[in-house]
Amino acid sequence: MTTLKMVILGRQGSGKGTQSLRICEAYGCVHVSTGDMLRSAVEQGTELGRQASQTMEAGGLVSDETMNGIVAQRLSRRDIAERGVLLDGFPRTAEQANALERILYDLGERLTVAVNLEVPTKTVTERMLGRGRGDDTPEAIQRRLNLYEQQTTPLLQWFDSRSLLCTVDGVGTEDEVFARIRAVVSPAGR
Ligand code: AMP
Repeated sequence: MTTLKMVILGRQGSGKGTQSLRICEAYGCVHVSTGDMLRSAVEQGTELGRQASQTMEAGGLVSDETMNGIVAQRLSRRDIAERGVLLDGFPRTAEQANALERILYDLGERLTVAVNLEVPTKTVTERMLGRGRGDDTPEAIQRRLNLYEQQTTPLLQWFDSRSLLCTVDGVGTEDEVFARIRAVVSPAGR
């Protein structure tokens, strides 16, 4: 039986984090979040962390070359071969998507599915404002959402052109949304 090799996409506030945990619990796959990997590199003060911290603070993207290297290394580990993977935060660019395709091919694997968790901008904005965090001003939220849109549109096209894209309605209770994800992942994967 082949394991799940899945990508999840979604705006900030889409519930992507919560659903990622549930997917990994249900399918037994490894959660690989490049944002988490970079944040832990920054905390640990590694060379990568020093290089990435300014870019991250400015809301920019770490270079494709760096990201592709990190992900290639992580995906080559045994737990991924044994359990499969849910990629969260990668790929962010078409170049990274091409690299992912190559990395998996070299491992004798291929991508199963890319789930796009769709929550309207208006809804995620309300959710984020509701959290009341200091950096969540309406302007900052708008800026981050615009950036996400710009970055993600070509990626959605990339996945769609390979018939890998499944858009899932992310509005509803956690259970409702998870049931929708299961309905697209299960037939695609196992
Ligand atoms: P995230 O938690 O996924 O929003 O990632 C936090 C920050 O890490 C992003 O704003 C980027 O600066 C950086 N980052 C994470 N994943 C990537 C990626 N695949 N490509 C480039 N930069 C990334």
